[in-house]
Amino acid sequence: MERRDFTKLSAFAMAWRCLPSYAQNIGASQTPVGYAAIGLGTISSIFMRACAQSQTAKVTALVTGHPDTKGVKYAEMYGIPKSSIYTYETFDRIRDNKDVDAVYVGLPNSMHCEYTVRAAQAAKHVFCEKPMAISSAECRKMIDACHQAKVKLMIGYRVHYDPTWIQAIEIIGSGKIGQLESFQGGFFGQEPLGVWRLSKKLGGGGALMDLGIYPLNAIRHITGEEPADFTAILSTRDEGGRFTEVEQSMEWTMKLPSGIIASCGCSYGQRGPSFLHINGEKGYLMVEPAFNYDTVHLRGEVGGQAIDQLGAGKLPFQFVLEAEHFASCVRNHTEPESPGEEGLKDMLAIEAIYKAAGAPIA
Ligand code: NAD
Repeated sequence: MERRDFTKLSAFAMAWRCLPSYAQNIGASQTPVGYAAIGLGTISSIFMRACAQSQTAKVTALVTGHPDTKGVKYAEMYGIPKSSIYTYETFDRIRDNKDVDAVYVGLPNSMHCEYTVRAAQAAKHVFCEKPMAISSAECRKMIDACHQAKVKLMIGYRVHYDPTWIQAIEIIGSGKIGQLESFQGGFFGQEPLGVWRLSKKLGGGGALMDLGIYPLNAIRHITGEEPADFTAILSTRDEGGRFTEVEQSMEWTMKLPSGIIASCGCSYGQRGPSFLHINGEKGYLMVEPAFNYDTVHLRGEVGGQAIDQLGAGKLPFQFVLEAEHFASCVRNHTEPESPGEEGLKDMLAIEAIYKAAGAPIA
């Protein structure tokens, strides 16, 4: 083995040793971390279900544009006092709510920056959904605001906390598939006319911001390397008016400093799997489905043996792991596994991909 290869394996082994235990806990004497859920849509409702299953994370406040309907409904469901229902206008008063340690930002992408900064100014820790924001400038603003307020900032990357993914990364760290050579990944789906995801103002971009970020982040997370040398092509074929502001489909390639190459795709206008294929010199892993909420399926050839393992978790278990990890960071004064800097690095790569496709976002 050349020294160069050994260094690469050591880097993987180090990343492997640094992986968090997914059974994060806070001390028995510590009270659960109270979260305010901001934006009561799809993902926040999953997050609230997750907290209801947790001993260490609890939703203690709500922020919504519909306090009398959605607000009251979820307050009754999760035993939240009506006095802890806020609107976007009254949100800053959350500073005085001692039951709220942190906020969970489940808003459209372009609102993440404003509500993270306002939460930090109200001295609350922030767990923000991916993508962190819609530009690297916004990501930096969020990191600075949390740093200045001395609050923690975590971005919701489920892959970092899912046990099947952690196992895949352990296999890579063990060297059993040898030096990594290439990745192929993707995430595809359909978005209907009229949703905020198809608005440039609210989504910041299209499928790449929302779906392409999954294989991008997974590749960066697995290798610990920052991609460069991007080529990219986007296409919009649907003529039904859905894609007047953001791309329908994006395909891109990138190269990591070690020489690993990756080829990825995503779309808002086609059915397809969520997957990541990881090819090493001696073996390979295929994760498919890779980025769905409740089924991560790991297969491949490791050390000359076929492996086939279906993750056992069911929705919302990945969100329980995330909520408890951040709760542990808050109570134990430790740094999250997926901090704001991780969201910024993805956004820098996303900006480079849009630029390579001839459609810069800023
Ligand atoms: P959603 O449309 O279901 O919910 C968005 C919420 O924001 C709604 O409650 C809506 O009322 C509120 N809102 C406030 N102002 C709004 C405005 N101007 N326009 C539209 N809605 C407004 O969206 P979602 O699927 O829950 O996504 C929210 C965030 O979560 C996005 O950033 C998305 O990328 C992220 N997300 C993450 C995952 C994951 O697995 N980590 C999955 C889905 C979504």
